[in-house]
Amino acid sequence: MANPSILILPGDGIGPEVMAEVTKIISWFGDKRGLVFDVSEDLVGGAAYDVHGVPLADETMAKAQAADAVLLGAVGGPKYDVLDFSVKPERGLLRLRKEMDLFANLRPAQCFDALADFSSLKKDVVAGLDIMIVRELTSGVYFGEPRGIFNEGNERVGINTQRYTESEIVRVARAAFELAKRRNNKVCSMEKANVMESGILWREVVQKVHDEEYPEVELSHMYADNGAMQLVRWPKQFDVIVTDNLFGDILSDCAAMLTGSLGMLPSASLGAPMANGRPKAMYEPVHGSAPDIAGQGKANPIACILSFAMALRYSFDQGDEATRLEQAIEKVLADGVRTADLMGPDGGTPVSTSEMGDKIIAALDASL
Ligand code: NAD
Repeated sequence: MANPSILILPGDGIGPEVMAEVTKIISWFGDKRGLVFDVSEDLVGGAAYDVHGVPLADETMAKAQAADAVLLGAVGGPKYDVLDFSVKPERGLLRLRKEMDLFANLRPAQCFDALADFSSLKKDVVAGLDIMIVRELTSGVYFGEPRGIFNEGNERVGINTQRYTESEIVRVARAAFELAKRRNNKVCSMEKANVMESGILWREVVQKVHDEEYPEVELSHMYADNGAMQLVRWPKQFDVIVTDNLFGDILSDCAAMLTGSLGMLPSASLGAPMANGRPKAMYEPVHGSAPDIAGQGKANPIACILSFAMALRYSFDQGDEATRLEQAIEKVLADGVRTADLMGPDGGTPVSTSEMGDKIIAALDASL
């Protein structure tokens, strides 16, 4: 059987720097664990614009559609700010998400013990935190019609439309319940059914999917504004949260920052299963291209490495190996190894991007 394939799209700024560390780790799994991937690399964002005049070439899009998983670094940078909207680096990312129909965005908020002091919340509120927000990514108010700025009488009116079909809610609800089965069997669905019809439908459909297909999973419903309060008050009450595109955008950023640095946050975007049963999938760190530190070896590669751990778990069914990688990262952090973004007020000497990668590989070696 052919090896599973990974398309790597490093992108711009610190993207290539952090992806270089992921590449080392992919090789480690091939050499030491017999997990061999067919890895290819291509351009996205400004790097693609420089060569092709577009932020994602059609051939690259076709490769992404065919890959078992796509790993993306980051796109954008000041050099490209002047470009027309249609060819801005971010359009490459949006095209990937749209054409691969990646409707479920998984954003974990996991607090490594060694970094609990980084949170703005009290240590006992965040230590050991491990929750997953599933955000619907391809519908809702960011896409609904009508939208625009119109003239009405003698003033203008701005309109966006929250719109969800039953099937769009069903598929993201299933994604959340499936995840919950691999975790702690608990889902909280968030909407505003008290004031929005789309929220009433959301609640009804999530409940129906639960009752008919996943009765063994514990399901609760919460208004999204209360959800925001609860996330900050006592986040450990949650395991999987499923919510729409707009609320998910806000709640996932809020939850993620409970845990500290942007350099630590991975994400996955999943679509429908392909012929081989694997979901269409793209994995990427939450952070951007960080032009302020690009090219200086200062970037923290952990967000990108944790994104690869998610690929191991969700695309390649290698949950144990994903855990091995996460534990290696935990060990390195517990040993006090820090990139510059993780340095506390007490100072110390930060390691470089590639030194952090090497330390994680040493911890992987030690795990054998
Ligand atoms: P950013 O995430 O790039 O950086 C914000 C801050 O966090 C910066 O100070 C940066 O140095 C720091 N930071 C980010 N990642 C880090 C890491 N791995 N290690 C250490 N420090 C890190 O956000 P921004 O500055 O608002 O945007 C910069 C560019 O990135 C813009 O062009 C923006 O459009 C783009 N962007 C891309 C994505 C993406 O590719 N998914 C996401 C957000 C922003």
